[in-house]
Amino acid sequence: MGIVENLTELKKQLPGHVTLVAVSKTKPDEMILEAYHAGHRDFGENKVQDLLAKQERLPGDIRWHMIGHLQSNKVKYLAPFVHMIHGVDSLKLLNTIQREGEKHNRILDCLIQFHIAMEETKFGFSRDEAVNLIHPETLAELHHLRVRGVMGMATYTENSDQIREEFRFLKRIFEELKASVFAGREYFDQLSFGMSGDYQLAVDEGSTMVRIGSLIFGPRNY
Ligand SMILES: *Cc1c(COP(=O)(O)O)cnc(C)c1O
Repeated sequence: MGIVENLTELKKQLPGHVTLVAVSKTKPDEMILEAYHAGHRDFGENKVQDLLAKQERLPGDIRWHMIGHLQSNKVKYLAPFVHMIHGVDSLKLLNTIQREGEKHNRILDCLIQFHIAMEETKFGFSRDEAVNLIHPETLAELHHLRVRGVMGMATYTENSDQIREEFRFLKRIFEELKASVFAGREYFDQLSFGMSGDYQLAVDEGSTMVRIGSLIFGPRNY
């Protein structure tokens, strides 16, 4: 199947409140343009350098999502245009995003990444770290960023019970934060989880943003 068919099929399955981020990492401009010309606007990349290069070459109304690990010293490159930063995993990064947002007179939307998988390699806060480090007073001073919600990646496994548990854990953290640190902040309403292999499960468990690559663009060769 082609890219447009894959997109159409996916959009048919996804509830209206779920944003589909088409993960175009490693894929050429032509493929992105195919999706673009079919009306798709939300694309995700996991490397700053690739995201910048593509943003420069491709249409200006694409909404670019930074979905990978982001180093603080690279925020400045994204700040002028990025639509959403999914992987905020430190207070330092949060503060840098605030500073760069201020410089560019923008309010940068971002998500707090949580470590929900069993693997050691995935980035993100633990629940306790987030609760201990992110306070309402801290947030009140960050006028150039908006924490829109949470993001996480489940363990890479065939065991759907485990994946479901991890998604539920993330949802619980979201609910807890929404009732405490983010109480009264209506914009804290996004849950970014679910990829090609587990997006249906993710939607069942309350995801509002799925990040899907290979199911749209085909497998990646690194
Ligand atoms: C690559 C990637 C995806 C998409 O993965 P697929 O399995 O190809 O859908 C989603 N989220 C992140 C953070 C990624 O790096």
